[in-house]
Amino acid sequence: MRDKTMKVLQVSAEIFPLLKTGGLADIAGALPAAMSATGCDLRVLLPGFATILQDLQDAVVLGQVATPWGERFSVRHGRLASLGVAAYVIDAPGLYLRPGSPYEDAHRQPYADNHRRFALLGWVAALLGQGLDAQWTPQVVHAHDWHAALAPAYLAFSRERQRQRVASVYTVHNLAYQGVFAPQHFHELGLPDAAFSINGLEFHGNISFMKAGLFYADRITTVSPTYAQEIQTPEQGCGLDGLLRTRRSALCGILNGVDAAVWNPACDKLLPFAYDAHSNAGKARCKAALQAEMSLAAQPRAPLFGVVSRLTEQKGLHLVLAGIDELLARGGQLVVLGSGEGWLEAALREQALKHPQSVAVRLGYDEALAHRIFGGTDVTLVPSRFEPCGLTQMYGLSYGSLPLVRRVGGLADTVVDSTLEDLAAQRANGFVFEEFTADAFTRALRRAFALYARPDEWAEVAKRAMQQDFGWKASAQKFLALYRQVTG
Ligand code: ADP
Repeated sequence: MRDKTMKVLQVSAEIFPLLKTGGLADIAGALPAAMSATGCDLRVLLPGFATILQDLQDAVVLGQVATPWGERFSVRHGRLASLGVAAYVIDAPGLYLRPGSPYEDAHRQPYADNHRRFALLGWVAALLGQGLDAQWTPQVVHAHDWHAALAPAYLAFSRERQRQRVASVYTVHNLAYQGVFAPQHFHELGLPDAAFSINGLEFHGNISFMKAGLFYADRITTVSPTYAQEIQTPEQGCGLDGLLRTRRSALCGILNGVDAAVWNPACDKLLPFAYDAHSNAGKARCKAALQAEMSLAAQPRAPLFGVVSRLTEQKGLHLVLAGIDELLARGGQLVVLGSGEGWLEAALREQALKHPQSVAVRLGYDEALAHRIFGGTDVTLVPSRFEPCGLTQMYGLSYGSLPLVRRVGGLADTVVDSTLEDLAAQRANGFVFEEFTADAFTRALRRAFALYARPDEWAEVAKRAMQQDFGWKASAQKFLALYRQVTG
């Protein structure tokens, strides 16, 4: 049933294609279209980073907003040209117009005023809930990750100023990034003293934006069902598993989707050649083009492994380094695109220098090259220690680059190992290992080589992977059902 009236304000720090540091942006960029296809009236609220302000069309100033710490900024309302979605943007140049990363300075240190920069995002969300735009008030504020996590807290403390109760949904994209700040900043946030308590956003004497979202939101979602379970355990709860267990009746996992308008090898303008599940000659040509681009040996039958990732401890790339000798000894090639921790960048670069015909590493962020890597590789490696959902394994599936993953979080929800029984049952779509060890990773690598040596079976698994539906439709329906529930 279509619901034409559900009004939702989506609040996030990033949105693809305007500002992206990871999966959060892909989701924030895909949800508006997916939700409006269900009949939802969804608008977005974003900080006024340069690329976002530049994309805002037909903007009017809604009004001046006083921050809790005494500054005043204006909020603009218009339409994001690149997404065709109605948007509210906080025009606060002193807070948001800085070169480089949205969160860190040139020395990779978090900005000292991040608590203000992102409190303001939640603050304005709550003001919109109280009628800041006389023409449009949301029924649900849907906040994403710690940057937006004060929105549920501000809403909870402003109920008497809401014309009708505005519900809050908080989505955790990664529990490990919490937005923790020193307690002396609490008075800048405009929350009552009662909020700085164990039953509130106080976390070991500090302020935790993440905890505010988890404590005050009416409903909490994670980006995969398995992750919703995992974060209730001490191993993956990042110190918040106790709170998450007490809130488990409000918590559920809704799997991220793949935006087929952006990630589809049949019509991906960033690929040199198109292909699909039925005609994959283009895939072989994409592989040859990638080998040439990365100066790898032109070997059509060398299994080509790819990594597109932030280079952080979470992503388990030291396992790839540990398995690299075996990968090369078996005749494989590796291409890596990523940026992050210095030691990982150095170790990867060293491998590329040592094996220029077989290992290529590009350090940095390159959206177009990411597409060419999914298009040109045979296997996408995602050996994460933990993974809230993971998008690259789903992009790998869509592009016939079979994912090799650890059985954790969203990876466990999306990839089925190529065991004999799952091959026979026509369920296998990749390679999965359990233990977070080099040995387990290397054994999964061997399974990939074994299957690659059987081209017909490989082609069958790749075809199945490409035909799987990871579109947003099902997940958007789940969000709509949640919005309905939470608005009674
Ligand atoms: P996370 O959000 O933890 O970084 P996800 O797998 O959910 O991991 O999403 C990562 C997103 O960022 C994907 O769209 C992936 O293609 C992209 N990505 C990661 N690193 C790079 C890079 N160096 N260049 C281009 N895209 C990248």
